[in-house]
Amino acid sequence: MKKRRLLLVVGIVGLTVFIGFNFAKDIGWIEQSPTLSEPPKLADGAKESTGQQGGQVEGEETPQPTEGNDESNVDKPEITDKPESTDKPESTDKPESTDKPINTGSTVEVVGISKGEDGAMGVVAEPENVASLVNPFNKLPEDYNPTDLVYPDVRFIFSEKIEKRKMRQEAAEALEKLFSGAEDAKIYLAGVSAYRSHETQKKLFDRYVKRDGYEKARTYSALPGTSEHETGLAVDVTSSDGKCAAADCFGETKEADWLKMNAATYGFIIRYPEGKDKITGYQYEPWHLRYVGTSVAEELVANDQTLEEYYDAVPVNN
Ligand SMILES: [Zn+2]
Repeated sequence: MKKRRLLLVVGIVGLTVFIGFNFAKDIGWIEQSPTLSEPPKLADGAKESTGQQGGQVEGEETPQPTEGNDESNVDKPEITDKPESTDKPESTDKPESTDKPINTGSTVEVVGISKGEDGAMGVVAEPENVASLVNPFNKLPEDYNPTDLVYPDVRFIFSEKIEKRKMRQEAAEALEKLFSGAEDAKIYLAGVSAYRSHETQKKLFDRYVKRDGYEKARTYSALPGTSEHETGLAVDVTSSDGKCAAADCFGETKEADWLKMNAATYGFIIRYPEGKDKITGYQYEPWHLRYVGTSVAEELVANDQTLEEYYDAVPVNN
């Protein structure tokens, strides 16, 4: 009797491991460096999806949960507060930018509506616009797939030519310039994860829903269509040693400092800056770069603004 039960337990564990392994392989985690074991820090009270393959940056830029959830993420180092950059230029009056995409679905409509529910979201009207706002309230059209994806010629922490190495042409070229500008300053960066197809994000999210239910899943994983990685304009970077890939400790590195000061020159912004989590819906992610083009990037830095503020969009977590 005991033996039988033991066999059953072994069988179940074996099956679970097998399914998990195959899924991880499907979506490319398995290729990731096993040293990258720290997923990004979750918002207070968010449940981490533990037990996944290391370096699980896919889909894990975690919108802060709207409802509390008392399982907190215990194995992440705390970030220490870093002083705000002090040499910001004076704010200038913002000229009307001509390349602002118009987000359909009035932002007013989403106020007070349960956040992240499909019905409450706007759909990005010009998803191909490099300055588009994509966030938990503004999702990409269901059928949007960037058409100009290429492999940027920069170092990544893995060697395979796979989906997450891709970026849209313009962003890829800008990233190449950024990496080489960094090297001139003896800052050596590496890409961690860039493009993620809608299909991949969906697979990932569906899996979480099966495991934890919809409500819980959306507290720690971006809903399909709302992850910036689906635009082909976002990339997570780290130092070339890969030590703090998509982890809070990256914020303490000279690489992160350099990015803070210089990314905008190349058209990138630190999309989820420190102290703006109530607006962006994401905790500080010093590693997540979003290409928006040089003029918008420099304007955002000059005005100490997030993309949400730039568009007067509804704060994601107010
Ligand atoms: Zn990211």
